[in-house]
Amino acid sequence: TIQIDRVSKKFGQLEVLSDIDFTIEKGEFAAIVGPSGCGKSTVLRMIAGLETASEGQVLANGQRIQKPDPQRVLIFQEHALYPWRTVDDNVGFGLELAKVPAKERRIRVNEVLEKVGLSGFQSYYPSQLSGGMKQRVSIARALVLNPEVLLLDEPYGALDAITRLTMQNELIKLWRGSGMTVLLITHDIDEAVYLADTIYVMSPRPGRITEKFQTAMLRPRDRNSS
Ligand code: ATP
Ligand code: MG
Repeated sequence: TIQIDRVSKKFGQLEVLSDIDFTIEKGEFAAIVGPSGCGKSTVLRMIAGLETASEGQVLANGQRIQKPDPQRVLIFQEHALYPWRTVDDNVGFGLELAKVPAKERRIRVNEVLEKVGLSGFQSYYPSQLSGGMKQRVSIARALVLNPEVLLLDEPYGALDAITRLTMQNELIKLWRGSGMTVLLITHDIDEAVYLADTIYVMSPRPGRITEKFQTAMLRPRDRNSS
């Protein structure tokens, strides 16, 4: 469970977030939408432990978040893969840092590459991959750590419409039944409705949450199946 408890954030004189308050339950898929500059990435960076609140607190399972933790991984649009490392080594790097033995590393990397549909591309370098494949590598790199929380900052913004749809469906499959908590940031309200259980809408200057939607009501397939 992630709790944002009456959080405000200032950068110098600039108040970026004002009294943000919400809870994401374990296993929930939530999304934040809102205009550029309203503070979406700042919220995500606080949950990732990369930024601290000026007021209020950010909690993971009741504990105050104070630094980055492999249990909560952040993925952003510029996938930031190491260009000089192969797919295998990009994905396995986190496990290497965690001192996971080479043999187990290989097994887990292969497993997760199969999950994201990249078996056979182990020895490719990022420059040899398409945008969608690079995004799959960064998702694999996160999933290989078995995170409790996946934080996605506009992961599909740079992809064409068809690849985006494919990736969205892959993400639902990876999430469903995994128990993983997902928080997705997007400019695309349709994407949020399609993927998330809960949508928070933010407004800018200073960033506040102005609406909360439960999407089950908005989806035709759910209406038809109940
Ligand atoms: P976008 O949709 O364009 O990604 P966003 O909603 O993610 O926007 P943030 O990146 O969270 O917005 O930024 C919100 C505001 O906070 C902006 O005005 C930005 O200039 C400011 N800001 C963010 N990080 C810092 C920082 N480290 N120092 C100073 N100001 C910052
Ligand atoms: Mg942003």
